[in-house]
Amino acid sequence: MIKVEHLSKRYGALTVLKDVNAEIRKGEVVSIIGPSGTGKSTFLRCLNLLDSPTSGSIVIDGVDILAPGADVPAVRQKMNMVFQSFNLFAHLSVLENLTLGPIKLRGLTAAKAGEKAMELLRLVGLAEKANSFPEELSGGQKQRVAIARCLAMEPEIILFDEPTSALDPTMVSEVLSVIRRLAKDGMTMAIVTHEMDFARDVSNRVFYMDEGVIYEEGPPEQLFGDPRRPRTRAFINRIRSYQCHIASRDFDFYAMNGEIEAFCEKQFIPRKGRDDLLALVEEVVQLHAPQLASAALELSIDYSEKTGSLQLLVKSAGEARNLLEGSQEEEDIGLLLIRNLCEATEYGYVDGNNRLAFTLRRR
Ligand code: ADP
Ligand code: MG
Repeated sequence: MIKVEHLSKRYGALTVLKDVNAEIRKGEVVSIIGPSGTGKSTFLRCLNLLDSPTSGSIVIDGVDILAPGADVPAVRQKMNMVFQSFNLFAHLSVLENLTLGPIKLRGLTAAKAGEKAMELLRLVGLAEKANSFPEELSGGQKQRVAIARCLAMEPEIILFDEPTSALDPTMVSEVLSVIRRLAKDGMTMAIVTHEMDFARDVSNRVFYMDEGVIYEEGPPEQLFGDPRRPRTRAFINRIRSYQCHIASRDFDFYAMNGEIEAFCEKQFIPRKGRDDLLALVEEVVQLHAPQLASAALELSIDYSEKTGSLQLLVKSAGEARNLLEGSQEEEDIGLLLIRNLCEATEYGYVDGNNRLAFTLRRR
C-alpha cells in the first residue's frame, strides 16, 4: 500500500532522514519506536506531505505522491494524521470539528456529515459530548475526538504521532483502547509511540528508527524479545553504559573505581552487585596486565534498566588470544574468581580486536 524508497530529509546542514526504506501493507499496523530526535515525526510528516522530503520516493497504491502535480489534499485525505497535541478547532463544537472536513472537502451535506459524525462519536464513546467545546473535555476525550475527526475523512491509512504523549497517565488507556479497536477493524496504521507494551501487542511489525534510517524492523515478538542489532538492544533493554579507556599499566585505577561506584549509584545498582562488579573489573584488568605494556583496553559496563543485568565488555587490539582459556598446566586463581562472579563469559575476535563479555551472576 505504501512503499518508501531512499527517503532523505535535510534541514539545512542537519540530515534527519538518511535513507529510509519501508513498506506498509494494507491492513497492517506498524509501530515506530526509537529515541527522541531520530526523525520519527519527520518521517510521518514526509509521508503525508506536511514536510517535503529532500530526495527519495513515496508510492501509495501505485501513485508516486512526490511527482510534480500530485494531488496533495487527496493524499492527506487518504492518509490522515493524528497528532500528539490533538489540534482540535477550539472555536468549534465537537460535532462541528467532525463535520467541517467532510462538508468542505468531501462535499457531504450537513445532515449526512452530522449523521456520520454521531456514529463516529459513538464509536469513540463520546456521543454525549457532541455539543461540548474542546476546552470542556479532558485530554483523553480530546484525543478521542481527534481520532473520530480523522476517521470522518474516511482515510485508508492513519498516521499517529505519539497520540498519548501529552496525556495524564490515567487517560492513556482510553485512547489506546480506541486505537486497538481500529486495529481489530482492519485499519492500516503507522503509530509512533513510546508505549512499548501497546506497540508489542497491537502491531504486526515494529520499526526501530535510529541514525536516520529504519535501523531494525521485525515482528514485535522478535524486535522486543530478541533484538538483533546493538542499538536496538540498547534501546529495548534500556541499557546505560559506563566506558573507560585504559591506556597503560600506569593508569589511575582508583579514579576508575570511583567512577564505577558513582555509575552504580546513579543506576541504583544494589551494593552486592556493585562489589561484584568492582571485583570483576579488578580481576579482568589483572588478566590483561601483560597486554597493557603494548595495547590499550576499552572497558564498557552495560547495565540494563529493564532486566537488571550487568555486563562487562572488554576490547583489546592485537593477535587473537582468548585469555579465558588460561594456561594448560594450572588453573589460574584469577580465572577461578572470574568464573565464580559470572554466569556467562564469551570470547570473540572481530576486526583485529579481542572481545570478551562477562555477564555478572545475580545475587
Ligand atoms: P522524533 O520525532 O524522532 O523525536 P523529529 O522528527 O521531531 O524526531 O526531529 C528529528 C530532528 O530534526 C531533530 O533534531 C529536530 O530538531 C530536527 N527538526 C525537526 N523539524 C525541524 C524543522 N522544521 N527545522 C529544523 N530542524 C527540525
Ligand atoms: Mg516526534
